[in-house]
Amino acid sequence: MKKKTQLIHGGIVGDQYTGAVSTPIYQVSTYKQDGVGNFKYEYSRTGNPTREALEALIRDLEGGHAGFAFGSGMAAISAVMTLFKAGDHVVFTDDVYGGSYRLMTKVLHRFQIDVTFVDTSDAEKVKAAIQENTVAIYVETPTNPLLKVTDIRQMKEVAAEKSLLLIVDNTFSTPYYQNPLELGADIVVHSATKYLGGHSDVVAGLVVVNSKELAEQLHFIQNSVGGILGPQDSWLLIRGIKTLGLRMEQTERNTQAIVEFLKDRDDITTIYYPGLPSHPGHTTHLQQANGFGGMVSFDVGSGKRAEDVLRKTTFFTLAESLGAVESLISLPAKMTHASIPPERRQELGITDGLVRISVGIEDAEDLIEDLKQALEA
Ligand SMILES: *Cc1c(COP(=O)(O)O)cnc(C)c1O
Repeated sequence: MKKKTQLIHGGIVGDQYTGAVSTPIYQVSTYKQDGVGNFKYEYSRTGNPTREALEALIRDLEGGHAGFAFGSGMAAISAVMTLFKAGDHVVFTDDVYGGSYRLMTKVLHRFQIDVTFVDTSDAEKVKAAIQENTVAIYVETPTNPLLKVTDIRQMKEVAAEKSLLLIVDNTFSTPYYQNPLELGADIVVHSATKYLGGHSDVVAGLVVVNSKELAEQLHFIQNSVGGILGPQDSWLLIRGIKTLGLRMEQTERNTQAIVEFLKDRDDITTIYYPGLPSHPGHTTHLQQANGFGGMVSFDVGSGKRAEDVLRKTTFFTLAESLGAVESLISLPAKMTHASIPPERRQELGITDGLVRISVGIEDAEDLIEDLKQALEA
């Protein structure tokens, strides 16, 4: 089955009881048992048919053993991290999503799960960061907001040498463009709030694992900790995912046109987009993904100018988040990455003038015109 077909026909389709073509929203907490202990579903934290349809769909899209749906991307990532115990150590991509950085340094730190942040695009740095107690490598590729690319196959080699788990945050590329499990990862996580949902109307997280053992462990955690996704939001995600292919392709066409426009301007100092042949991760990304997606960051020179630009766009809505049908614009240093200390932001290259755009599926001409007037105002 090809990708766009799988988006429609993957997982559990429709309803076996009524023949409904759209998976119904099973708005239910508990289920009647046919005699004690004789049931298909017991309680909706443990299992719900609408959530199950979504979990089967993401499992199929990522080519894994089992999928799990959570109330947010952070709930999904937290659940994965509770596979580990006090004294364990995880190597993380350095310019990781701000919320993941905060989770590791401010919350899990208190439970003695230790972390080292390194530039995972450099395998030697990852090897050097591995300790006696390291249990996993956690990679985001491409990253947010600098679109740095890590070679997933190479990370698999490094992880396999020491029997470490390889976890990949695939939010930016989506399963439409990149399948980390097929490249050797053990666990994939998604903020489904972004491209998978795609319409800025649901907060959700998804996890897919590659083995029966991990599936059993994660199901146990999901049921024990309880951060599940409700049936309404599960249905919204299934609906969003059906058009993922169409949206990603339009987003990418628009993004390429915008990058061409930005490239020709001398009032922009740097453009971060893996689709640019000059991008350091360009070749690696091409070897592991089928598309470059719709995230671009560019430096307009100063924080003051960046704020002016952000105030003046019309079709680019000033907002956090990304991956929706509408284009969004943001200032990472003051928004998504504000929780990262200023000196660390400088180290990473997240300058005050760095503007991040999430390109939507509007007409490219309108988007370019909008950026042009904002940059020239
Ligand atoms: C948004 C995001 C998250 C967190 O997801 P939420 O759904 O907001 O909890 C994690 N990783 C990446 C790359 C993200 O963009």
